[in-house]
Amino acid sequence: MRERAPTFTEPLPSAVDVVVIGAGVIGISTAWFLRDAGVSVLICDKGVVAGEQSGRNWGWIRQQGRDAAEVPMAIDSVNLWEQLAREVGVDIGFKRGGILYAARTERELARFERWLPIAERHQLDTRIVTAKAVDALIDDRPGQFVGGMYTASDARAEPFLAVPALARALHARGVAIREHCAVRSLDVAAGKVAGVVTEAGRVRTAAVVCAAGAWSTRFLGNLDVDLPQLAARSTVVRTAPAPNVCDGGALLGEVAIRRRPDGGYSVAASSLNEHFVGADTLKYFREFLPALRSSRRFMDVRFGGDLLARLFPKRHWQPDDVTPFERTRVWNPEPSRDAIDAMRAGLAKRLPKLANVSFEEAWAGMIDTTPDVVPVIDAVAEYSGLYVATGFSGHGFGIGPGAGRVVAEMVMGKSPRHDLARFRLARFRGGEAVEVGPAL
Ligand SMILES: Cc1cc2nc3c(=O)[nH]c(=O)nc-3n(C[C@H](O)[C@H](O)[C@H](O)COP(=O)(O)OP(=O)(O)OC[C@H]3O[C@@H](n4cnc5c(N)ncnc54)[C@H](O)[C@@H]3O)c2cc1C
Repeated sequence: MRERAPTFTEPLPSAVDVVVIGAGVIGISTAWFLRDAGVSVLICDKGVVAGEQSGRNWGWIRQQGRDAAEVPMAIDSVNLWEQLAREVGVDIGFKRGGILYAARTERELARFERWLPIAERHQLDTRIVTAKAVDALIDDRPGQFVGGMYTASDARAEPFLAVPALARALHARGVAIREHCAVRSLDVAAGKVAGVVTEAGRVRTAAVVCAAGAWSTRFLGNLDVDLPQLAARSTVVRTAPAPNVCDGGALLGEVAIRRRPDGGYSVAASSLNEHFVGADTLKYFREFLPALRSSRRFMDVRFGGDLLARLFPKRHWQPDDVTPFERTRVWNPEPSRDAIDAMRAGLAKRLPKLANVSFEEAWAGMIDTTPDVVPVIDAVAEYSGLYVATGFSGHGFGIGPGAGRVVAEMVMGKSPRHDLARFRLARFRGGEAVEVGPAL
């Protein structure tokens, strides 16, 4: 994926109410709702708006299959996406095209069925569908699946359009955004946040939101705040325009597809997330063991690449040091050949009409994940005024606006509209058992 030059390059303000670290969907959404409440905000990104996960994902806006605690936020989010798509005034590819998980076996179907009580509790339109209904939703080789789970109100949008469009709208409404501006550290006075130290200078503030995606563990680690988080490479392909076999998103065994407004598909190998072993793998092995045990799909462990650098990462720095954030402006991993081959094989097996579709572009992103595959949304106990919203574990695009709204409420000292107990940072401290989310 080609790296974009920065477009938001204005001078830093000397003081703001809140600094948001990271211009992904979570940072931008948080700023959106802070600004709506009249709070002054600066968003800093070491790279560019939506340069990492938020501009590289599949574009699924999904309510189904989530951890029960995420569902209220996910339901809010689809509605907020719909509203934001209207407000930004440009086409972000938003459509409620539905999402289908097709089941290859009765066992898979039973796993989906076990999620249904959560949908019922929240009056979601998720239903278990028959093999015949799957064939009606997917216009290709019939008779491959025993049934599936389907949510018609689930949606999609184009990630590389959506978050930049929100950022432009925010900027037009007076929110300061600065790209190529890493936040290196905090200024702290008597245990309270007093400002941020960026590569372009200091900014005074009493509140900081760390929405730094896969870098959050690094940023917080430098402040001696421990956040268990690992990253896994996920590869995506954009196809040329192709027959309309499905108008939404579909997980069809080995392959996942999502219709694009240009008539093509975003395609992925549904079960290939490659984690490259490094120092953090060893550091957090114990925390991640339950997730690794619970699903073979969770992560594929890989060696190689820049192993030495990963084994000896820079963990601490001074405010005037050049930090790892500036050294990697945009984490832009090479797409995985294995994943692209798996997509080609998956299409040939599941969607013969797309078997020979041209792959026009491939890219990869690093998914940040927590040990229980649900995010951390919390105030950081060690520093009054520091908040963290990260670890969305491969499903943060869809839930982004809903999550941003509760983060904004938290920062403003309002009682958040949803129960956030499941997302406490302290769950990884002090011996609580890791309760792995469904990650369906
Ligand atoms: C291939 C792929 C497919 C996915 N598919 C889906 C999907 O279909 N649906 C879904 O809901 N989710 C999906 N996800 C997950 C989703 O994209 C993420 O959960 C979500 O985008 C996370 O947003 P974020 O804002 O937390 O992080 P990011 O988008 O990664 O943004 C973090 C930002 O912080 C910046 N930053 C980091 N450190 C600093 C610092 N010190 N100073 C300044 N800036 C800093 C980074 O440059 C980055 O721009 C997918 C992810 C990938 C990679």
